[in-house]
Amino acid sequence: MSFVELRNICKKYKGNERYSVENFNLEIEPHEFIAFVGPSGCGKSTTLRMIAGFEEITSGDLFIEGKRMNEVAPRDRGISMVFQNYALYPHMTVEKNIAYGLQNMKVPKDEIKKKVDYAINMLGLEEYRKRKPKNLSGGQRQRVALGRAIVKNQKLFLMDEPLSNLDAKLRVSMRTEISRIHREIGATTIYVTHDQVEAMTMADRIVIMKDGIVQQVGKPMDLYDHP
Ligand code: ADP
Ligand code: ADP
Repeated sequence: MSFVELRNICKKYKGNERYSVENFNLEIEPHEFIAFVGPSGCGKSTTLRMIAGFEEITSGDLFIEGKRMNEVAPRDRGISMVFQNYALYPHMTVEKNIAYGLQNMKVPKDEIKKKVDYAINMLGLEEYRKRKPKNLSGGQRQRVALGRAIVKNQKLFLMDEPLSNLDAKLRVSMRTEISRIHREIGATTIYVTHDQVEAMTMADRIVIMKDGIVQQVGKPMDLYDHP
């Protein structure tokens, strides 16, 4: 059974004449790293937001672990989303930012500590745990955002251009880091980017989109290696 299945997913925003996403079909296996690639406006974020449940599906069916998504409450869907603008709490330290979601989920204190320590260690944030976001670099902030997603132990990671605000050098090193985290925690990841190289170096399979329509789906080698 596939982990996530999109069946003829379509999206037309109210007031728009055109569909933003048309007949999107895809089966994602457990532990796969999938990238959605294509130019700005081709429907990547819209598709991701429908999977996250932030955006209504106009028509089609979406299944997560064989269950129709609209039959599962958002908090039971096991989804973590990482955004490009980090969305950290400015008044909280690194460790509090990472712990916050768990406190809301009423996780016991000692367990929160264990998970936060694990994430901080994995992300190399030990030195910065008492700092607030304004005293961190862009890369460190993005790591905190990843930490928040990791500690929740969710099975499905959705990432919308998480590296696009970072400088080129950091983008390259964070690629490796995100791939490593994906493998280490055994997640299934859907990663949105307009950067083909990013997709090629990170993803198991790439979905190429244009004007709301899936053009190709395949392994990086099969899509880009031939002239
Ligand atoms: P991206 O290209 O990175 O997805 P955009 O700058 O296109 O980001 O969109 C940013 C936000 O604006 C999103 O929340 C999106 O839903 C919203 N948005 C984009 N296009 C429109 C539109 N035509 N009408 C209303 N909201 C839009
Ligand atoms: P991408 O993520 O590939 O940049 P989006 O999914 O953000 O593309 O946008 C796909 C299309 O849907 C664009 O034409 C955009 O203007 C439109 N769109 C996105 N969000 C909204 C929105 N909230 N309201 C209306 N139109 C939107």
